[in-house]
Amino acid sequence: MTRAIPTMPRPRLGVSACLLGSAVRFDGGHQRDDFVVARLGPHVDWVPVCPEVEAGLGAPRPSMRLEGRPEAPRLVEPRSGRDLTETLDATATARVAALAGNALDGFILKKDSPTCGLHRVRVWGDHGQAERTGRGLFAARLVEVMPALPVEEEGRLRDRRLRESFLIRVFTHARLACLLSSDWTHRDLVAFHTDHKMLLLASHPTAAGDLGRLVADGRSIDRDTLASRYRTGLMRALSRVTSVGRMVNTLHHMVGHLTRRIDRASSREMHECIDGFGRGEVPLAVPLTLLRHHARRTGIDYLLRQTLCEPCPPSLQLHAAL
Ligand code: SF4
Repeated sequence: MTRAIPTMPRPRLGVSACLLGSAVRFDGGHQRDDFVVARLGPHVDWVPVCPEVEAGLGAPRPSMRLEGRPEAPRLVEPRSGRDLTETLDATATARVAALAGNALDGFILKKDSPTCGLHRVRVWGDHGQAERTGRGLFAARLVEVMPALPVEEEGRLRDRRLRESFLIRVFTHARLACLLSSDWTHRDLVAFHTDHKMLLLASHPTAAGDLGRLVADGRSIDRDTLASRYRTGLMRALSRVTSVGRMVNTLHHMVGHLTRRIDRASSREMHECIDGFGRGEVPLAVPLTLLRHHARRTGIDYLLRQTLCEPCPPSLQLHAAL
């Protein structure tokens, strides 16, 4: 018997507190994000963080910006010239260290913030011109200390494919965390990998093979090392956004498992349906539903257990994205 882990766990997500509607911004307001609060909120437990308020800067407070070299910017209040880099750095370092032991499954950061922004944050140079090449001080510390953690900005989550990729990583991270926090065995990890094989194949076929070999050799590897290498490899592989072409190949591969169990007409119908998805004529949900129907009818548990079929709660409507 392999260990039963929940197929749809409840992830713990760190979040820039202003996105939840907390009045922590420099102007005393918030940046409540509808997707974060209303759509995702019912499925996750939040761990809100406002590094600037936690650094004792209060709300409202003078606005700040990044200045200097993009690779090592300073956090400065432009009006007063006050440099808050050390203050914020110390808070970020302590907070991230605490979060690292807090069993997070992901983090959603506020874009453009000199503290929380992850991508293309403005860094002001000596001549009063800004380049969008920086990263907020807290965001930089977070991804440095927890490189395998799924992290995104709320702005990028408006892109359906990026949102799908992020949510798949978050829920997969949570499933793996459930397993690794138990008294798991090598056999449990093999079963976990087997259930995620098609999801991996659709994202990164090469990494899927590498992880398969890692798990197969797992008995000869120290348990903690195996867990850490598997988690890092899995998250890195899934961070590659699935393309329609790779998804088509994966679905055809899945039909291969049904070949001797269903008649030729049904098999042809499945392949045609998948090709229709590849041409953009039908949504991914159509071939997946058909696949599951045949897998259920023929009792192929291996296919039914594939997390590719339902990587996240259905109400998040993931498969509409491809
Ligand atoms: S972006 Fe970050 S630091 Fe700024 S208000 Fe939001 S949580 Fe606080």
